Amino acid sequence: MLPILIFFLAHWYLSLFTQSFFHHRYASHRAFTMSKFWEKVFFVLSLLFQGSSYLRPAAYGAMHRMHHAFADTEKDPHSPKFSKNLIDMMVKTWHNYRAISLDDSNLKKAYTEQLPRWDSFDKFAGSLPVRISFVVFYIWFYVEFATHWWMYFLIPIHVLINPVHGAVINWFAHKIGYRSHKMEDTSTNLLAIDFLMWGESYHNNHHKFPYRANFGSRWHEIDPLFIFIKLFDAVGIIELRKSLPQVEQKEAENQIEQQEKLAV
Ligand SMILES: [Zn+2]
Ligand SMILES: [Zn+2]
Repeated sequence: MLPILIFFLAHWYLSLFTQSFFHHRYASHRAFTMSKFWEKVFFVLSLLFQGSSYLRPAAYGAMHRMHHAFADTEKDPHSPKFSKNLIDMMVKTWHNYRAISLDDSNLKKAYTEQLPRWDSFDKFAGSLPVRISFVVFYIWFYVEFATHWWMYFLIPIHVLINPVHGAVINWFAHKIGYRSHKMEDTSTNLLAIDFLMWGESYHNNHHKFPYRANFGSRWHEIDPLFIFIKLFDAVGIIELRKSLPQVEQKEAENQIEQQEKLAV
């Protein structure tokens, strides 16, 4: 029981850590900067922790920027408003991700500029033999350590850990929960104290202030990942953006620009 529990929790938190820290807050939003060396370190860590569902940071980043620009409109790459159910949204998200991953040259520059790219590594990490190797490893681990039959039902979560995390936020944090900021979109804060999602569940706060490294807004909304971000900043692994008010101003202007374009 204990090895399975440790393995499941480690995989859940470590894979989401890389997705939230590297793909989301760094690649998509540039909430902080890092050197090319550290970029490569986080590429490798992303593969180790995300395993069979490794996502190409540049494709994730471009798709996610489109989510913010078109949240809950027909152009949103994943909105519960335009999907029949959770699985339908996950399938649509996969198709959109796949299309961007194969070719993002037709997208507006704003969605693709300053994204971390390491094409040869992405090609390797996203290849079928690598993905299958991780799946084989997950199955082997359960065959070796599972003590009850029901534990095998956890294997699909390991295999699809990134899409599972994405679906939790993109579906439930646009459907249930509370709202601290009035927005045009349906974003909500899912948990009052986010002990499961590394701060990602403060999604309404995040839609309001996309470039902020700290997703917490109220006193009880402690963002666990932001503690690590501060630590990484203190030891020189990353550099938090200093000109945040200007960045937020620019982002607000961009959002207005996008809304105006949509209204045409
Ligand atoms: Zn959202
Ligand atoms: Zn975001």
